[in-house]
Amino acid sequence: MKKLTTNQIRKMWLDFFKEKKHHFLAPVSLIPVDDPSLLWINSGVATLKPYFDGRKTPPAPRLTNSQKAIRTNDIENVGVTARHQTMFEMLGNFSIGEYFKKEAIEFAWELLTSSKWFAIPVDKLYITVFSEDKEAYKIWTEVIGIAPDHIFSLGRETNFWDVGQGPCGPNTEMFFDRGEKWDPKKIGPRLIADDIENDRFIEIWNIVFSQFNNDGTNNYTELPRKNIDTGAGLERIASIFQDTPTNFETDIFFPTIKKVETLCDPQYTYSIDNYMNPTPEQTKINTAFKVIADHVRATSFAIADGVFPGNKDRGYIIRRLIRRSSVYGKELGIRTAFLYKLVIEVINAMGEFYPYLKTKQTLIEEAIRTEEEKFLKTLAKGYELLEKIINEDNKVSAKNALLLFESFGFPIEQTLEIAEKRNVDVDLVGFEKLLAETKESTRNARKDLKAWDKQNELFTKLTVESKFTGWEETEHENSQIVFMFSGQQEIQTVTNDTTFVILDKTPFYAEKGGQAADTGTMSNDTANAIVLDTQQGPNHQHIHQIKVNGTLKVGDHITAKVDEDKRIYTMKNHSGTHMVHSALREVLGSTVMQAGSFNDENGLRMDFTFNRNATEQELKAVENLVIKKIHESINREVHFCSMNDAINKYHALAFFADKYDDIVRVVKFGDFSSELCGGTHVENTKDIEDFIITGIESKGSGLFRIKCLTSFETVNEYLRNQFKHYFEEVEILIDKYNIAKNHLVDKQIEQHFDKIKSLEISKNNLDIVKKLISEFKDLYKSYDKKINDILMAQKLNQFKDLKPTLNSHGVNEIKLFTKGLNIADLKQLADELRNKFADLILILGSETENDNFIVVAVSRSLQNKYRAIDIFNNLKEFTTKGGGNANLAQGKYFYKQ
Ligand code: ATP
Ligand code: MG
Repeated sequence: MKKLTTNQIRKMWLDFFKEKKHHFLAPVSLIPVDDPSLLWINSGVATLKPYFDGRKTPPAPRLTNSQKAIRTNDIENVGVTARHQTMFEMLGNFSIGEYFKKEAIEFAWELLTSSKWFAIPVDKLYITVFSEDKEAYKIWTEVIGIAPDHIFSLGRETNFWDVGQGPCGPNTEMFFDRGEKWDPKKIGPRLIADDIENDRFIEIWNIVFSQFNNDGTNNYTELPRKNIDTGAGLERIASIFQDTPTNFETDIFFPTIKKVETLCDPQYTYSIDNYMNPTPEQTKINTAFKVIADHVRATSFAIADGVFPGNKDRGYIIRRLIRRSSVYGKELGIRTAFLYKLVIEVINAMGEFYPYLKTKQTLIEEAIRTEEEKFLKTLAKGYELLEKIINEDNKVSAKNALLLFESFGFPIEQTLEIAEKRNVDVDLVGFEKLLAETKESTRNARKDLKAWDKQNELFTKLTVESKFTGWEETEHENSQIVFMFSGQQEIQTVTNDTTFVILDKTPFYAEKGGQAADTGTMSNDTANAIVLDTQQGPNHQHIHQIKVNGTLKVGDHITAKVDEDKRIYTMKNHSGTHMVHSALREVLGSTVMQAGSFNDENGLRMDFTFNRNATEQELKAVENLVIKKIHESINREVHFCSMNDAINKYHALAFFADKYDDIVRVVKFGDFSSELCGGTHVENTKDIEDFIITGIESKGSGLFRIKCLTSFETVNEYLRNQFKHYFEEVEILIDKYNIAKNHLVDKQIEQHFDKIKSLEISKNNLDIVKKLISEFKDLYKSYDKKINDILMAQKLNQFKDLKPTLNSHGVNEIKLFTKGLNIADLKQLADELRNKFADLILILGSETENDNFIVVAVSRSLQNKYRAIDIFNNLKEFTTKGGGNANLAQGKYFYKQ
């Protein structure tokens, strides 16, 4: 067997498929784009969905890649099985409607066995196929010449890929035999045939023949266009070529493990021998090393892609990985934050294929270090709390165990361990039940779906040419209708109906890259149509949804006219999006990465990643910078060029580019902004006119959404509305003041109000008005309190001559039943009377419109004999509802029936 490094294996794979005319796709971010069904990219093919379901035409029908993927449902397997990682790399080759079973199998065999490539001895390889797939079986045995005892026909569970509805098909798997050493019971190839979990036969490659469509009720029909989708785990192949017991001793992870050994308590070392002759203690130690090495790699990559530790979604996964590794670090005797020290090992192992990691080293280290330090602090608090719980309750209830786990990130194993040492019980069963309940309720609706959208045959076969002219014009006079369809049916003519058309030349922009679709009209002598929507077809055609009045036929010439007003304002907002993106990066730093945007005629919003909240000053600086650039009147440049030129010559930002196109389009405003973009833009920054940030919100996991407006008209209207809203707020208060001022005049309030009302509506005054309003509210609050005191004093004034009389027990008592006082008034009156007279019992009642209120109070000196609450509960004339103590009782009273 050849000895190959991971980098050599990856390169050999990609070189092989490039030689077989496959187009190489560079790895893309772990964050799925435009795919709410996935939390993470979880396979190589997940990045190619639009090509497979026909929404987009692939750059070539043959593709190859090596794609990083995260599978959160494998986290618990990490360090326990030999071959699961949280993040792994999947090598793949794909055919989109081109070659099928024979070529796919031939390619695989050549790559695996040819001496020029992997050169794996033929007798080391085993194959499985789906039992009903006679074709694949025949190719393997007759074309390739696999010996009958090296191929197994198996059932649906292992060899048919189906997710209910959508494309599906049989697959064929290739296994590598690591020899009897890994098969202690000497079971042999039956391990494959009977699908027995084992370490001898490693599945290295899986080819899915996407052949049928499942209509959802297991009716299978042949797909119009058949695809090949393959996946091979790079780490597993590395362990074969490096002959290591698990994936963790390969050159990807082992340097990290070795580094951990230098940081942990020297009594712990990683033992390779443990795999063959395991001892429980060493297994535990090895697992800790493996988990740490795995998690720090996944975390580093995720952070590099813009995911920061947080409380939700992706951010939460990263937080969990950091916490888990930190806890495992503790098991190895590490007491301080250490994970960030391993980042350099990840970069050394992975940097060749992922050079951007190096440029993000500091960012990754800092994000990990901060998170781990924060965690260690909460963990210390958890220890304290657990101590307290044990001392007070002498047990740990399910609720407390969950509290420790959820709020303090305190692992249940630690709770159990400490409780055991202290000889107290933990309600583990209850804890697990509670945990399952919370998990269930917070379970993410997203499922790791692998399904493609159903193929629409008509749609995927659309090859008619259509040219977009809308970068230069908003009206095209002589466009010809070249294709029309309704539902899944091609049609030739439409009368008074809604339908879809494609034009040979169209000025209508199709929704894409965050820019809204153009709308407008199409017309000729026979018909007028409203263009409701414009979307992209598989070959970049713009497909218009139109509502026709009259009759239109394929071949007709029409005038296509974009709603110009809408387009102009959309352009301002799209250019504004580029400006705010650059400004954010300049003010907050280049860790800001755009993560989606949307702009139409009404405004713009942009999502971006950043590891903390931006301050008000920073946002102001961003706003000012954009305005400065508008005032600088920078001309727009557009360059059609290679990706290489876009990045190196024009320094374009390219996070979400259509990276597979040969020629890309760069939109550039001087040195300030340069982005890959197919959108329509203003000619000069001064055409954006004006700019304002109207809000920013956190979307969790280090993702923020900023909202902005452009153009004089829109910004002014926004300001008018804001001011109107603020004025209305103070007017409500000033109306109340005008009524109350008979009792008390407050010059300060009046002046403040005048000041607010006289403010001119302008951007500069927006902050001033906000400040004045909040001051005004404070002033009014203290004024309101004064007024209430005055009103209460006036109300209570009528009782100023009240005097106690002796009751039947010879104790001072004031008993008053009156009207119009509420509980607060009664309590105030009780306080005043108790201050005035000593040794007193008070029974004060009042009827109001809605309720009868009562307060009973007893002077402190009498409370050993008479308790307010007892008197309250035992009144002769009334029943009462309420509560209190010896000093005071309050509530409502009711006449006895
Ligand atoms: P397994 O049963 O081992 O979890 P799988 O059936 O989930 O594998 P596929 O979905 O077929 O795997 O993915 C294709 C290849 O990706 C696998 O053959 C394997 O080499 C690799 N792979 C899958 N999951 C992981 C993982 N968590 N860590 C490393 N490699 C993986
Ligand atoms: Mg799996």
